[in-house]
Amino acid sequence: MSRKKVIAGNWKMNKTPEETRQLISELIGAVKDAKSDVIICTPYTSLALAVELTQNTNIVVGAQNMHYEQSGAFTGEVSADMLLGLGVKYVIVGHSERRQYFGETDETVNKKVTTALSKGLVPIVCCGESLQQREQGITEELVRSQVIIACNGISKEDVKKIIIAYEPIWAIGTGKTATEQQANDVCKVIRTVIGELYDSETADLVRIQYGGSMNAKNAAQLLSMPDIDGGLIGGASLKAGDFSVITNFNG
Ligand code: PEP
Repeated sequence: MSRKKVIAGNWKMNKTPEETRQLISELIGAVKDAKSDVIICTPYTSLALAVELTQNTNIVVGAQNMHYEQSGAFTGEVSADMLLGLGVKYVIVGHSERRQYFGETDETVNKKVTTALSKGLVPIVCCGESLQQREQGITEELVRSQVIIACNGISKEDVKKIIIAYEPIWAIGTGKTATEQQANDVCKVIRTVIGELYDSETADLVRIQYGGSMNAKNAAQLLSMPDIDGGLIGGASLKAGDFSVITNFNG
């Protein structure tokens, strides 16, 4: 089964609108011949501009979070309809930074995945263990449970659309990348879980990314692994040249 690679940049809390304009102007040329699908997840304040600037290019825009409710008294929050209204197509759900600093739980992740899919946004669902959990030997158990809860109530047709990002917390922003074998082993566990929850055809279709200090130097090895279908890229997505290198692998 050959799945097209998907590379998503997570800009995190970086880039003002003016800086966004500059980076996107560099990215458009840099990734125009990308072999993978290309997504950039900008801060909310840059989404409208990013959608406008990437019209008629191969770059698609995603958000970094959304609320699971449709509307109401949730000061500071943004709904799926608001994102769709801007032309946003993807949304990162359950990033470890949101779990750590903003109280995101497996249950809120499931609610967000459910809402995003019901509205037509594609969720990029993050999972992954801390260093302590890896050292305790509970990585597989933890990631299994994160994926099972995230997919609770999601139909087979809908689950085929989602992207799952395996992001070991100890590798995010640390410069400490998982080895390609470590990354592939967990991506394979995730695919096995999808197979158990649905069926093997569905498991074969779901795209699973690795994220955690992926960069222009280590991307080729990671992306050559059979169960790694792309990357969720933080730091290296802020440099057009580095990001474009990562988008040039497809196999
Ligand atoms: C991320 O933010 O999802 C991430 C993987 O960051 P970095 O590439 O900087 O480790």
